[in-house]
Amino acid sequence: MAQVMNPNAVPTQDTMPTPNTMPAPNAVPTQDTMPAPNTMPAPNAVPTQDTMPAPNTMIVEHFAAARVPTSYGGFVAHAYRSVADGEEHIAYVMAEVDGGAPPLVRMHSECLTGDLLSSLRCDCGQQLRAALAMIAQEGRGVLVYLRGHEGRGIGIGHKIRAYALQDVGLDTVEANEAQGLPIDSRTYGVGASILADLGITEMRLMTNNPRKLDSLEDFNLKITERIPIEIESNPENVRYLRTKRDRLGHTLTAAL
Ligand SMILES: [Zn+2]
Repeated sequence: MAQVMNPNAVPTQDTMPTPNTMPAPNAVPTQDTMPAPNTMPAPNAVPTQDTMPAPNTMIVEHFAAARVPTSYGGFVAHAYRSVADGEEHIAYVMAEVDGGAPPLVRMHSECLTGDLLSSLRCDCGQQLRAALAMIAQEGRGVLVYLRGHEGRGIGIGHKIRAYALQDVGLDTVEANEAQGLPIDSRTYGVGASILADLGITEMRLMTNNPRKLDSLEDFNLKITERIPIEIESNPENVRYLRTKRDRLGHTLTAAL
């Protein structure tokens, strides 16, 4: 049976740690004093509230900021660099967003074909432009452009391969699965850290994706309102939008 210590007991010579059991401050760790491997967290351990990075734990560094006039209005572009992998991300900020009413925020995942190369296979480019227009109309808000999110995290090459599989009948979820790739491997810790660095704690998030709401709330960011950002479908993306609605839980109210 374990011996219970009297909490009021005065430490005696026997219970006081002897000075020579303490490591000297400049002692070089030896095999014996190194932490045993089993004190390290398992690599596949599920993060708990205690091990999740707090939003103010900087996993990005602010790299540079400059004025960028656009056809929608004037923004300040803030460049960030992810500490973990060196990936660079950008936040377009219009007006003062540190404090005041919760600003409009779009957390946009990079899509080279949709955002830049005029593809009609998805709605990304139209959502990007609609988000910039909505921020400009309100005169205030943030668009965070997250790199490395191509094809819900599979990369441009695998995304094009997924398109080829979709052309022989698979849907967007099945096309990732057929390549042995996750359906959605995007994470929002970097985006959450960027928002925290910009001084944002509450926001009105422009998204149709409920998973994004949950992900950001995991980082102690409060979403006061979800602003839908629905784009009119076209014959090329209607199946993709139906899959997002029916298999990925996106809130799409327009008839598809
Ligand atoms: Zn896209």
